[in-house]
Amino acid sequence: MLKKFINWIRKITLKGGNVYCCVCENNFLTFLPSGDESKAHARCPGCNSIDRHRQLYSLSTDFIAQNKTNTTLLHIAPEFALSERFRKNKHVNYFAIDKFESGYEYPKYVQAMDITDLKFQNNVFDLILCSHVLEHIEQDTLAIQNLLKVLKPTGICYIVVPYFPELEKTYHNPNANTDALRFLNYGQSDHVRQYGLDFRDRLTQAGCLVSTLNFKANYSESEQIKLGFLNAEIIFKITKNG
Ligand SMILES: [Zn+2]
Repeated sequence: MLKKFINWIRKITLKGGNVYCCVCENNFLTFLPSGDESKAHARCPGCNSIDRHRQLYSLSTDFIAQNKTNTTLLHIAPEFALSERFRKNKHVNYFAIDKFESGYEYPKYVQAMDITDLKFQNNVFDLILCSHVLEHIEQDTLAIQNLLKVLKPTGICYIVVPYFPELEKTYHNPNANTDALRFLNYGQSDHVRQYGLDFRDRLTQAGCLVSTLNFKANYSESEQIKLGFLNAEIIFKITKNG
């Protein structure tokens, strides 16, 4: 309740025209630092989205607008600011799944499902969003193959991972088998690897056609500031191969 009140105050006091959030469609004086990732100019005072959420939402709304039929959308480990918008969109058939962890509460619309054991039929989704998920999954190749299976031949899946281009090869230490060791090795206790430059090859080897989208390269600095893409991440766009 207190958190909601603080959010409301923040939203009112930061009203202004300097920046625009495409998720909640509000203008504010500024974006706020993102507490958990210590990034400046990242979090929307209105909906709490951060850069990669806005990127994904922007791409998704473009897709939904261009899709001639309703868009059947699978959202893995959903970002709640985005869920709220997708669920209100009458052109979207929305499915959200997550691997439920004890100690967390999940909204009713989220189904408990493991990405390595998807319970959907093949070729059903027009659009899949999978952001900051694969770095948590031991069998990430199986997860990618599963996403491809449930994707329609005309569908698109957007994947974002913590990406370390300074690493030529993805780093995985099989001895990092405790929270403390995973934190030491990967910077987060629930990660199981750090993806390097070969991430694209890993997607290709799993059977995907891959292209990358770079919001930082495609927007001027003033647009990045205005739209909150200063901390934008590389997005991997995958489709079925044939
Ligand atoms: Zn917002």
